[in-house]
Amino acid sequence: MNALPTDMLVAKLKSALGAGGVLEGEEAAARAQGGWSKLGKPHLVLRPSSTAEVSAALKLLHEAGQPLVPWGGKTGLVEGGNAEGGVVLSLDRMNVIEEIDPVGGTMTVEAGCVLQTVCEAADRQGLLFALDLGARGSATIGGNISTNAGGNRVIRYGMMRDLVLGLEAVLADGTVISSMNRMIKNNAGYDLKQLFIGTEGTLGIVTRAVLRLQPKPLSQDTAFVAVDDFKALPRFLRHMEQALGGTLSAFEVMWESFYSLVTTPPASGRPPVPHGHPYYVLVEGLGSEQASDSARFERALETALEEGMVSDAVIAKNQAERDSMWALRDDVSQVVRLGAIFTFDVSLGIADMESYIGEVRAGLAAITPDYGLAVFGHMGDGNLHVIASVGDHALEARRKVERAVYTPLRARKGSVSAEHGIGLEKRPYLNWSRSDDEVGLMQLLKRTLDPKNILNPGKVLEPAGLAAAE
Ligand SMILES: Cc1cc2nc3c(=O)[nH]c(=O)nc-3n(C[C@H](O)[C@H](O)[C@H](O)COP(=O)(O)OP(=O)(O)OC[C@H]3O[C@@H](n4cnc5c(N)ncnc54)[C@H](O)[C@@H]3O)c2cc1C
Repeated sequence: MNALPTDMLVAKLKSALGAGGVLEGEEAAARAQGGWSKLGKPHLVLRPSSTAEVSAALKLLHEAGQPLVPWGGKTGLVEGGNAEGGVVLSLDRMNVIEEIDPVGGTMTVEAGCVLQTVCEAADRQGLLFALDLGARGSATIGGNISTNAGGNRVIRYGMMRDLVLGLEAVLADGTVISSMNRMIKNNAGYDLKQLFIGTEGTLGIVTRAVLRLQPKPLSQDTAFVAVDDFKALPRFLRHMEQALGGTLSAFEVMWESFYSLVTTPPASGRPPVPHGHPYYVLVEGLGSEQASDSARFERALETALEEGMVSDAVIAKNQAERDSMWALRDDVSQVVRLGAIFTFDVSLGIADMESYIGEVRAGLAAITPDYGLAVFGHMGDGNLHVIASVGDHALEARRKVERAVYTPLRARKGSVSAEHGIGLEKRPYLNWSRSDDEVGLMQLLKRTLDPKNILNPGKVLEPAGLAAAE
C-alpha cells in the first residue's frame, strides 16, 4: 500500500532521530499489536522525541516523497492508522505534561500524553480535563485532537475541539506551526488549529497542545433507569437537562440488545435494573454541592417516574456502584459475542432514531433472518453506536450491511461519523454526509497543505481515480 523507504532515507532518519528513534522489520511490525482497528504491518516506525525531531523527520520524508501514517494510542476505530508496509510516525515518546496553570485553567502537553494521565494530573490540581472515553487508558491527546474525539461528557463540555485552546503542528514539509494560544477569545485572523482538529493526520502532525481545564466538580450523581417507550427518551432527556440546571453531564442510552450483552455472563457486569425493558439510560450530573445536588437529582428522577417517563430507576449510593454502572457502558468488547461484527458510529436527530433503527433492522433482516444488532450511544449528542452482524465478515457482507445502516441514515440527513472519524473504513461514504462542494474544499485544502500527498495518504478522502459510493 505504501512505498518502501530507501536505505539512504532510513540512514538519514536514523541520524536525525538518534538511538531508539527508528524501529525496523519485526520490531516495527510488533508495534501494530493491540490496535483496535486494522493497523497493517508497518515497515518502519519513527519515534521522534521532540517537535524539532518531528520536523526533521518530515523534511526528510517530504524531500523523498515518502508517505507516513501518524500513530497515537492506536485506539482509533476506522483504520485511520492503517500503515500496511509503510512508515509510521509514532508520538509515543512525546508524552510530557509541560505545565498546568491552575489560574488560567490550562494544561500544556505533548501530543503523545495518554488521556487518562492528563485527566489524573488535572484532578490532582483540583481541576477537570473533561474528555472521557472508554479508551482513556491508551488514547493520546494527539489522537483525540486528530479525531476530534467525543465521549461521555460532550453534552456538558463539548467535543475535543471545545477543549483545545491552542496547538502546535508540523506540516508535510517540516514547517512548525506553533499556535499555542492560551486565551479563550482570540479572533486575530483564521483559527489555524481547526485545520488539525478532526482531520485525522492528513493535514499535519499534532505535536503539542494547550488544553482547557474546568473546575473539578465537587458532586457526582449517577443513576441507571429503564424506559419502556422510545418517545419518553427525549422527554426524559429534556426534563433532566432542565431539572439539573445545566449540570447534566452524561445521558448514555442502551438498547435492550446491548444491555443484555453487558449484564449477562460471560460479561462480569450484573443488571442494576431488571431486564425486560426496551431501553436503559445511564444518567449523570456533575455539580458543586453534594447534598443539595443529590436532593435535586433524586427529585428529578422521582418526577420522571411519576410522569411515566421512566419505569424503573436505581441511584448509585457510592463510588463502587457508580463505577460498576459506568463499567457496563464501557464494556463494549462484549459485542464480539454477536459474531463477525461491523461497527458504526452515526449521528442523527433524536426524533428520527426510533424509525431509523426500525429501518436498519428491516435492512439487516433482508440480508439474513439471523442477524445480530446491538445499539447504544451518547444519545444526548444525537450519537448512536450501531453494531451489526450477519454471520459473515467478507467484504460483500460488509457492503450489504453498510447499505442497511447508511441508506436510512442518508434519508434522514444524518452523519456516517459522529465521533470516530472517516479513516479508510468510511471513506466511500463521506459524500453521503457531505456535499460535493464540501468534499471539493477538503481536497483543495489537502492539495495545498500536502501537495506530495505524504500525510496519511488515502485516509478520509478518496485518492484520485477511486469513486465514492453511489
Ligand atoms: C473501547 C473504546 C472506546 C472508545 N470510545 C470513544 C468515544 O466514546 N468517543 C470517541 O470519540 N472515540 C472513542 N473511541 C475511539 C478512539 O479512542 C478515539 O478516536 C481516540 O481519539 C483515538 O486516539 P488515539 O491516540 O488512540 O489515536 P490513534 O488511533 O493512534 O489515531 C487516530 C487517528 O489520528 C491520527 N493521529 C494520531 N495521533 C496523531 C497526531 N499526533 N497528529 C496527527 N494525527 C494523529 C492517526 O493517523 C489516525 O488517523 C473509542 C475506542 C475504543 C477502543
